[in-house]
Amino acid sequence: MLKVGLTGGIGSGKSAVSALLRERGAVIVDADGIAREVVEPGTPGLAAVVAEFGDGVLLPDGTLDRERVGRIVFADRDRLAALNAIVHPLVGARMRELEEAAAPDAVVVHDVPLLTENGLAAMYDLVVVVDAPVETQLDRLTSRRGMTEEDARARIANQASREDRRAIADHVIDNSGSLDDLKARVDALWEDLARRAA
Ligand code: ADP
Repeated sequence: MLKVGLTGGIGSGKSAVSALLRERGAVIVDADGIAREVVEPGTPGLAAVVAEFGDGVLLPDGTLDRERVGRIVFADRDRLAALNAIVHPLVGARMRELEEAAAPDAVVVHDVPLLTENGLAAMYDLVVVVDAPVETQLDRLTSRRGMTEEDARARIANQASREDRRAIADHVIDNSGSLDDLKARVDALWEDLARRAA
């Protein structure tokens, strides 16, 4: 198994690369997605969160009010630690389950938005960074995601710089061009990853 960490700044095209790698046969492990899954209605995770925070953190439809929880833990380190103590082990267990189910020659790609910021490169055999100029990130975030330019700039400024990301990359995928350009680059990347995994 080849364990790959995939990261990139917001709007760089990380999700697009992840989807293309999945199409080519990669097993995708999406930490943010798993963190949502483990507290879906009916899960022991959600029951534990409600036991800790009260049923005021539930929306009328029984799903977790993520915004409300976010506001509670943002202001209080102890509450954040309590939330993490519930969610992190569940996420870790689910990730191990997905890895254990993968074939011996699988390419397992972990989609990790804050890989650079959190210094996690050593956890992976290889780090792939999706890179695009800041102006391109801004353009995608405003035209395709409906963010204001100010909001998009603030989000980008809060993350690692392109240089910081490139410094920990084994592969940099340039996504400054068209989606067809990106597909060709992902094909070349996939060839290398699949060869290494085999
Ligand atoms: P990220 O996951 O890095 O935040 P996404 O993959 O969601 O970014 O890309 C942001 C937006 O830009 C999406 O709407 C995506 O479809 C679009 N996009 C990504 N790459 C390209 C590209 N090369 N050309 C045009 N649009 C792109």
